[in-house]
Amino acid sequence: MRLLLIGPPGAGKGTQALRLAAQLSIQHISAGDLFREHIDQGTELGRNARTHMRAGLLVPDEVTIGVIEERLARPDTTRGFLLDGFPRNLVQAEALDGILADSESRLDAVLDLEISEAEVVRRIAGRRLCRRDREHIFHVGHSPPEVSGVCDVCGGVLYQRDDDREATVRQRLEVHRSLTAPVVDRYRAQGLVTTISALGHVQEVLDRALVAIGQGQADASGASSC
Ligand code: AMP
Repeated sequence: MRLLLIGPPGAGKGTQALRLAAQLSIQHISAGDLFREHIDQGTELGRNARTHMRAGLLVPDEVTIGVIEERLARPDTTRGFLLDGFPRNLVQAEALDGILADSESRLDAVLDLEISEAEVVRRIAGRRLCRRDREHIFHVGHSPPEVSGVCDVCGGVLYQRDDDREATVRQRLEVHRSLTAPVVDRYRAQGLVTTISALGHVQEVLDRALVAIGQGQADASGASSC
């Protein structure tokens, strides 16, 4: 299965993408995570990406498309993949069409996570990640760690992402509105999009996503095909 997960920052894309990909036994591919790996490794690409990420802007298309193309070419994606946060503009969507056409494959579905901007700002302001494993995510308000600043799972130090500060979040929301929303419209015109409410517990949102792609129980409310 080949899926896209699209949504504004703070909608829970990363959290849902990890769970969905595990449940479906497909690869989770996040452009943001690939950039953060480069940043951790101190590569030139990472330094370039970081400048844009810190400003809440998209990393240039040629860099982003190259990173994703290289990742999709690896053999572990033949069973399928879930792209999290790519494509984020129409140029990237067209590039993805080309990559898929080259491998004679196509997308099965696009999941669009929906959330208000006020809720995004509230969620992101309190988000804290573990330095040892970014998959360990906390929120100072609704899922705080037992010991402030320390990861419950592995004892790592918790930190706030550079781009999770409020001014940057507002910039990222503007990017989503102006550049990424047209991507959703494009896939909607192809009949591929299901919009899912990102509100509620992680498991509730996951259930909606699974229903949307025909892999779950039909009683999960909050999904609308369009
Ligand atoms: P995310 O981890 O998806 O929230 O992305 C964090 C940041 O990485 C974004 O705000 C962008 O600066 C950059 N980024 C992630 N995905 C893309 C993309 N598809 N195109 C350009 N920049 C991206």
